[in-house]
Amino acid sequence: MIDVWDNIINTFKGYANWAWSEITFSTEFWYINYFLWLLVVSVVVFAFEVAFPWRKTQKVFRKDFWLDFSYMFLNFYVFAFFLSGFFTLIWELLSYFNIDSDSFVILDLKSLALWAGLLIFFVVNDFVQWFTHFLLHRFDFLWQFHKVHHSVKEMGFAAHLRYHWMENVFYKPLKTLVVLLFFGVEPQIAFIVHFISIAIGHLNHANLNIDYGPLKYVLNNPKMHIWHHAKDLPASHSNGMNFGISLSIWDYIFKTNYIPHDGRDIELGFENDEKFPQSLIGQSIYPLGKKD
Ligand SMILES: [Zn+2]
Ligand SMILES: [Zn+2]
Repeated sequence: MIDVWDNIINTFKGYANWAWSEITFSTEFWYINYFLWLLVVSVVVFAFEVAFPWRKTQKVFRKDFWLDFSYMFLNFYVFAFFLSGFFTLIWELLSYFNIDSDSFVILDLKSLALWAGLLIFFVVNDFVQWFTHFLLHRFDFLWQFHKVHHSVKEMGFAAHLRYHWMENVFYKPLKTLVVLLFFGVEPQIAFIVHFISIAIGHLNHANLNIDYGPLKYVLNNPKMHIWHHAKDLPASHSNGMNFGISLSIWDYIFKTNYIPHDGRDIELGFENDEKFPQSLIGQSIYPLGKKD
């Protein structure tokens, strides 16, 4: 039992050191720095929004811009810090039952070319996230947490990372399982895939009139994802639609795609969203303090 606590404390320490080296730009290799790339991707997508806005009347610093901006960093560093200890505990419990990382491996990515490993990891990881997202809409217990992401009323890139910290609890075990399925997921592969996802996710929420032409059937995009945030759901998709994270192809395969017309000015949110907490703290403790 002492070992377990030691491991959890060490995880916390390791995580804190890592986060500190990132935000002070003192990582061993400057280019492997999430904080740096999060800033770069955010600034680039924001610049496109300002230069070529889809909704021209929307303010540059739209409603909740700073709330979403806070979420970007809190979800990356603060909430993930606490969860890292929680996941170490789970991992320790699994090892107690002799379940370790070798128990899951189905494919050795090291035996493939780098691009092939990257592609397979990206596609499988994205499908798992698509399915998790579908479940967040399907079950009321999960939806209560996912409402935070859907409480966005004016869309912009930073809304991408507005989500309840509990979502990490739902996504992380499944994403970890994907890493475990493949032997030899190098940190570089995980890093590149993660940042491709961040860039696409930022673009999906950006105030931009783009859908990548014929690639829209493969790649998620702002004109598709805006419908995912529609307040009024059609009878044909009463549990939601367009659940894609980076790829839209899963929605086309499973018939959860829905873009009836240009969604530039549709109302966003969900029923009774006017009663939903507006503050970071209120949203983070939700559904505690729920009014309806
Ligand atoms: Zn959703
Ligand atoms: Zn979204």
